[in-house]
Amino acid sequence: MKRLFFILTMSCALCAAALFAADRAFCKYCGSSSFGNLQQMLTSSCSKSPTGKHQPYQGAPRRFYLCSYCATESASFAQLVLSPCSKSPRKYHDAYEGTEKTFYICKECGFESHSFKQLVTSLCSKSPRKYHNPL
Ligand SMILES: [Zn+2]
Ligand SMILES: [Zn+2]
Ligand SMILES: [Zn+2]
Repeated sequence: MKRLFFILTMSCALCAAALFAADRAFCKYCGSSSFGNLQQMLTSSCSKSPTGKHQPYQGAPRRFYLCSYCATESASFAQLVLSPCSKSPRKYHDAYEGTEKTFYICKECGFESHSFKQLVTSLCSKSPRKYHNPL
């Protein structure tokens, strides 16, 4: 009886984890997605996060994740956010949380471009980070 209870608990934990993983709940700073639930994610410590706790990536799941500062693409979310970026203030690529669009617009000056890369790598006089900031 005890053994049966153990098996049931195990399989439920596994199915919850599978459901949670399907939501692609990544930490946007360390790329980790091995959390039982969102609360566990928000309360466990993250060595890469400025707040010391994991923070969820709030964008939609994508085929390729893009860095908001240099437009580097990666099919792996964790690989993107853990790789060094010379343009990012925190020195690692930051995953862009917006959706895939035909036109990208700078939220500081309204500059438009078909190319995400062109937008984030072109100088912007209004943006605090000196380059256009994609909406
Ligand atoms: Zn983290
Ligand atoms: Zn980057
Ligand atoms: Zn701009």
